[in-house]
Amino acid sequence: MKFIPGKYKIRDESMKPFIDSEEIWSYLKQEAPSRERVREVIARSLDKKRLSLEETAVLLNTSDPEMIEEIKAGAKALKEKVYGNRIVLFAPMYIGNHCSNNCRYCGFRASNREAIRKTLNREEIITNVEALEENGQKRLILVYGEHKNYSPEYIAETVKTVYEVKKGKGEIRRVNINAAPLDIEGYKTVKEAGIGTYQVFQETYHPKAYKWYHPSGKKADYDYRLVSLDRAMEAGIDDVGIGALFGLYDWRFEVMGLVRHTNHLEACYNVGPHTISFPRLQNASAYDIDPKYTVSDEEFIRLVAVLRLAVPYTGMILTAREPKHIREKVLEFGVSQIDAGTKIEIGAYSDKKPPNLQDLNREQFRINDERSLNDVIDELLEKNMLPSFCTACYRLGRTGEHFMEFSVPGFIKRYCTPNAILTLAEYLVDYAGEETARKGWQVIEQNKKQIEGFRNMDELDRRIERIKEGERDIYF
Ligand code: SAM
Ligand code: SF4
Repeated sequence: MKFIPGKYKIRDESMKPFIDSEEIWSYLKQEAPSRERVREVIARSLDKKRLSLEETAVLLNTSDPEMIEEIKAGAKALKEKVYGNRIVLFAPMYIGNHCSNNCRYCGFRASNREAIRKTLNREEIITNVEALEENGQKRLILVYGEHKNYSPEYIAETVKTVYEVKKGKGEIRRVNINAAPLDIEGYKTVKEAGIGTYQVFQETYHPKAYKWYHPSGKKADYDYRLVSLDRAMEAGIDDVGIGALFGLYDWRFEVMGLVRHTNHLEACYNVGPHTISFPRLQNASAYDIDPKYTVSDEEFIRLVAVLRLAVPYTGMILTAREPKHIREKVLEFGVSQIDAGTKIEIGAYSDKKPPNLQDLNREQFRINDERSLNDVIDELLEKNMLPSFCTACYRLGRTGEHFMEFSVPGFIKRYCTPNAILTLAEYLVDYAGEETARKGWQVIEQNKKQIEGFRNMDELDRRIERIKEGERDIYF
């Protein structure tokens, strides 16, 4: 396909669809780029520029092994230069799996008669949040099927319930949402409950493929979902998360779709997405998917590296859908948030009995990393990474924090690393075993060295002491 400059440009207008698959394919069908061009694009990204569609396609169109290695090295360098050592931790909590849609890949779909349906009641939400707090979690994402019972008012109520639960020294300080797209009024209602990020994944950006995977229910409307986060922005939620479910269609097309979505939000609202998610399709109950678009481990690592370079200022989320060895590998290329201690069976956090690992009918899909929060923290510390539960920016109204981390000189040194240290200190005092605590204090000392010159070092030390004496939730 020949690319005709100017031919495909859809003008970005708020609430108007913006994906032109012909345009995306015209970039992806260009000839393989020269090494010089690939290096030019990597250098632009290292200079902290968000890449255009054309530039992203350059990185996707090379199959030269040497260039692929340089792309990965570029993503690694960008991550080290911009984000440092911190990894933000959270846990997903499934509130209910009733669903009126029929997504072919999902165990919760309406036509799956095997699925065991459940919605947590208020008491169950409380006991589950208590169990999460007893483990040391501070940040949750609540997940819902798409169903008339899960109205904006209901979602807002569950969010408020979660914030109310305080067990021992524990509390949840940030509640994000992954739920069906809402209308503007609905988004306003959930915003008032004090949510963090609202995530909606487009699943596949390819309209035809989308149609096949979503044969019925409200989710069948591609355009309504595509501009759903425009409506969130119109409602005043400027903290939104986008994502694609990799394995439904050509992975390179989906990367282009995510970059195009980012451009659209920037063009219309002057702010890109807060986070990008790139879940890879996992086995699910009554799952019936053509393996044609399966994404191999090597392709997965590549796509994360390209995304990191293409959208250098956005937080990237990697979940326990991936096994430990892939999670560890991909962390090097710019992932900034991971879940830990994850259970996706509804109500499972407060279950005292051992998990029934075979019961796919209670889960949306199968997860592949079942390590506890403490084990994940322990292994991050082993690699001298700094686990963080920081929620300071959003609570102080410093929204768009990823953008600030990225673009405001010294922001990481002034805020992110000290706050990561303070939240880790809380965890070490309240929840960690002896060995994890020993490693943790060492990592804190090492990371203090890395922010040498930080004006408030004495204050940071005083705050650590205050935490040791029992004070909580102090931040810069
Ligand atoms: N029901 C809402 C929706 O579809 O937007 C919100 C939550 S849905 C439970 C969360 C996400 O899980 C979906 O957006 C989809 O990307 C992902 N998902 C569904 N089935 C999956 C599977 N088999 N493997 C991996 N991820 C899956
Ligand atoms: Fe329902 Fe979401 Fe699953 Fe689709 S992905 S069947 S909308 S829970």
